[in-house]
Amino acid sequence: MLKLAIQKSGRLHDDSMRLLKECGIDISNGVNKLKAEATNFPLELYFLRDDDIPQYVEDNVADIGFVGENVVFEKAKKNTIVEKLGFGKCRLSIAVARNEEYTGTAFLQGKKIATSYPVLVKSFLDKNGVEAEIHEISGSVEIAPGIGLADAICDLVSSGSTLFMNGLKEVETILQSQAVLIRNNELQPEKMKLLERLLFRIQSVKKARNNKYILLNAPNEKLEEIIGLLPGMKSPTVLPLAEPGWSSVHSVLNENQFWDIIEQLKAAGAQGILVVPIEKMIV
Ligand code: ATP
Ligand code: MG
Repeated sequence: MLKLAIQKSGRLHDDSMRLLKECGIDISNGVNKLKAEATNFPLELYFLRDDDIPQYVEDNVADIGFVGENVVFEKAKKNTIVEKLGFGKCRLSIAVARNEEYTGTAFLQGKKIATSYPVLVKSFLDKNGVEAEIHEISGSVEIAPGIGLADAICDLVSSGSTLFMNGLKEVETILQSQAVLIRNNELQPEKMKLLERLLFRIQSVKKARNNKYILLNAPNEKLEEIIGLLPGMKSPTVLPLAEPGWSSVHSVLNENQFWDIIEQLKAAGAQGILVVPIEKMIV
């Protein structure tokens, strides 16, 4: 059985469980236990604090884990990053009081920086030739400047509202992060095979999320132009409509080009455009 560690509760928990569900993996018992088993895949789940996941994976207690890149890089354990998972997106940033005049990394010289990420902060400071005092605290980092504990902080940010509410402004981003799948560096071949099966499913789910199925009606004289706008997996499917002179065109569109192409399709004479989500995409 493949042993997967995920966060017990917190920001990554629900998305981790959802991803497994979308991969068609059913989990038998709830998260109040330390462990759970999948009923239809040889997978065992361990629910842990996110900070502990890289260590457990290094020690082979778990074979693989879902965890933020920020934690993976901070802990620097013997793990391999296998795949980005597309959720838990955030950045690790340095922030100072809003009324400070921040002129660049030289501002940090000799200052006190509060953070839960001492390793990543140290390497950022070293890269920029700055010496500062790193004050490691485990939580509520954003209040440190307000209570006189530090001149700056380095913490995870997504919307920036926590910083704003604490009178801080973001001045440097030191890492862009998202949840990733990590594995032990030396997985046995049978475990590797299971991981490959799981990975195939994860990649199919990710592709499906990034793509939409599109159906539209096109006057036959515009068909060529409209087909030219559609990438599709092979080429689009074209079916005649009951109304003479019209066809129905089906294709797959990537999220990134989506709105651009829709506008061009409308301009080219497409009508009755329908867009539907794709559940899985196997290519
Ligand atoms: P645990 O009890 O498991 O140690 P935690 O309090 O350390 O939980 P959470 O706040 O649940 O951790 O965050 C888990 C992960 O979610 C972070 O390590 C990061 O990868 C990601 N994340 C995404 N957005 C944010 C954000 N705005 N603030 C903090 N973490 C975020
Ligand atoms: Mg944690």
